[in-house]
Amino acid sequence: MVPSDKTGWTKVINARGTFTPLGVSRSPAKVREAVAEALRDYVRIEEMQQAASESLARFSGVEAGHIVHCAAAAVTLTVAACMTKGEPQSVARLPDAHGLPCRVLLPAGHNVNYGHAIEQAIRLAGGKPQLIGAAERCDISDLQSAMLQDDICGLLLVSSRLSRGSLDLAAAVDAARRQDVPVIIDGAAQDMRVRELAQTGADLIILSGQKYLCGPTAGLVVGTTAAMAAVRAQEVGIGRGMKASKEAIAGTLAALEVREELSIIDWRAAQSAKLQRFLQEAATLTAVTACAEPDPTGLPFARAVLEFDPPYDAEKLAEQLQASTPPIYVMTHLIRFNKIALEINALRQDELHSILLRLRVLLADKV
Ligand SMILES: *Cc1c(COP(=O)(O)O)cnc(C)c1O
Repeated sequence: MVPSDKTGWTKVINARGTFTPLGVSRSPAKVREAVAEALRDYVRIEEMQQAASESLARFSGVEAGHIVHCAAAAVTLTVAACMTKGEPQSVARLPDAHGLPCRVLLPAGHNVNYGHAIEQAIRLAGGKPQLIGAAERCDISDLQSAMLQDDICGLLLVSSRLSRGSLDLAAAVDAARRQDVPVIIDGAAQDMRVRELAQTGADLIILSGQKYLCGPTAGLVVGTTAAMAAVRAQEVGIGRGMKASKEAIAGTLAALEVREELSIIDWRAAQSAKLQRFLQEAATLTAVTACAEPDPTGLPFARAVLEFDPPYDAEKLAEQLQASTPPIYVMTHLIRFNKIALEINALRQDELHSILLRLRVLLADKV
């Protein structure tokens, strides 16, 4: 372990994306300052949440918003909102769900694991997850028949590169609305697509404040005023341990302002140029074929994919990169094809240079 500055933590080069065990994202100065300032004073959390609601409503084009501890907490609390509708006695009783509708429908391919299985986030509220269809295939008709059962409190959909199958979210939301079933969409890393998700008509949409929005850890919930009141009602129930801090709310508001000022067109052009340059340099490495892989969910950027000619082994190289100084973390979802992937959006030129240099050394070694 090499401490690299006064904090003493090992600084890592993170080409794995918005990955929680590596600190998720880098916040801009405006966000860091807002967090530090919030820590200095007493405030009215209620007033901050009201400002957050207005800011989130503008951001997403829906009626209202609310901030909780993180997106995982938001899954639990939106399920609790659907079960209780915010009714105080039911809120106080959770996770004892006796007498409440508690079945949560979840397409099997949406049973993602982002550090724990999303099913567990449902059970934490007292909800009963029920997987619908198969991992690679869940049809609207499968959902429709499942929604005929008793005890349904909601349908949970996940918009993520982790989810499988090709379920059309808008059609799923539409089917649920016809049967009066509330819909939650977990779009934790999809803040850049929030308007598209909101346009499906889902009652509640969940985002992470600390992923591509680059705020402090926070779970952002947006939706109808009534749905938001039911989420907020959990604050004096199971939501107590999942609350947003003043610094998280202040930092999220600053991150939303930074995003509002950002030209996505310019950002996208700059990212694309940076990726092209990286790929061109990577293509000069021995035994490497480099190409770009667009984000599968439709986020406005691509990742670098490096394929190695045998006998070079992608898995071994990924391990060697991680064991380097500084440690370099890459994405390993394509390792079975002898490829590694790198998300380089947030990386500086000096970090990209270190990655290429390290790969050059590793590939020069005898295999
Ligand atoms: C990251 C992620 C979460 C959890 O987000 P946190 O804010 O870290 O709790 C939930 N769902 C999905 C799909 C995610 O990608």
